[in-house]
Amino acid sequence: MRIHPVDRARATKNRPDLVAIMAVVLFASVFPVNLLPSAPNELRGTDGQLSGKQGQVLLVTVPADGRATEVVGQFLGRRVLFFPGTVSGYVGLLGIDMQDAPGTHELAVEVRHPEGPRRLSYNVLVMKEKYPLQHLTLPKGMVDLNEDNLVRVKAEQEQVRTMLDAVSRDRFWNGRFIEPVSGQVAGAFGRVRIINGQSRSPHNGEDITAPIGTAVVAANDGIARLTVEHFFSGKAVYVDHGLGLYSMYFHLSEATVQDGEAVKRGQVIGRVGESGRATGPHLHWGVRLNGARVDPYSLVKLPLDSLTTATR
Ligand SMILES: [Zn+2]
Repeated sequence: MRIHPVDRARATKNRPDLVAIMAVVLFASVFPVNLLPSAPNELRGTDGQLSGKQGQVLLVTVPADGRATEVVGQFLGRRVLFFPGTVSGYVGLLGIDMQDAPGTHELAVEVRHPEGPRRLSYNVLVMKEKYPLQHLTLPKGMVDLNEDNLVRVKAEQEQVRTMLDAVSRDRFWNGRFIEPVSGQVAGAFGRVRIINGQSRSPHNGEDITAPIGTAVVAANDGIARLTVEHFFSGKAVYVDHGLGLYSMYFHLSEATVQDGEAVKRGQVIGRVGESGRATGPHLHWGVRLNGARVDPYSLVKLPLDSLTTATR
């Protein structure tokens, strides 16, 4: 079980626990039979601890040998899909949604193995993030939608939801994630928005201000699943990185990829604009991880080069 090295203090503090976990798991794999077949589930101890803030992506490594066929987790009703790491064990990205309730929640992991499935249970402490409040004034027609626009927006939301629900079982991303454009980062992730005096949904991505026409690149390898022009997002590109991880790029002046096209990290996929509901030229960059709305910069900070076979 490994966690993001940024949380160094906690990692050090937890190390004795980790050693204990490894010992238990090794013991279990030597004796694959259930040692306590009659023990009810509730009596089983936890296999480890994790913690993170709302909107954060956690790197989780679970012990599993090369013969494991699949490693799948469940966290607050969302799936966490693990893949074999380069060193040892299986690695997964756990997304804490920006509005997950603070407190301790279970990450339940099932390791499917020829010798029978093994279940692991981790405690994940979700800590509250303090999101700033933002007052915005926008044209009335962009906030209080007329009947036609309401119908349009509902159809567009459905189109996006259907795409996000389709989870590719392959991992397309490889190595670290990069910023799609260099510019002024607004710190807008999670902002609680009061638009024209009314409380609206929180801002679920980061805004990067850059001149119109600035190249926008893919944050990692993937497949451009959807290139659209939507009411709120404007010209937008959605990239599927596999295993339920999507990145999205909004308010473009131009999209330079087509649906179904494979893209590489750093490849130009569009250009900065101010299409849709935007108050000026900027890129809205969002990341969805198995349904969780997470801070894209949290993904950029993860040391993924060492965990995957990055060759570039
Ligand atoms: Zn935005």
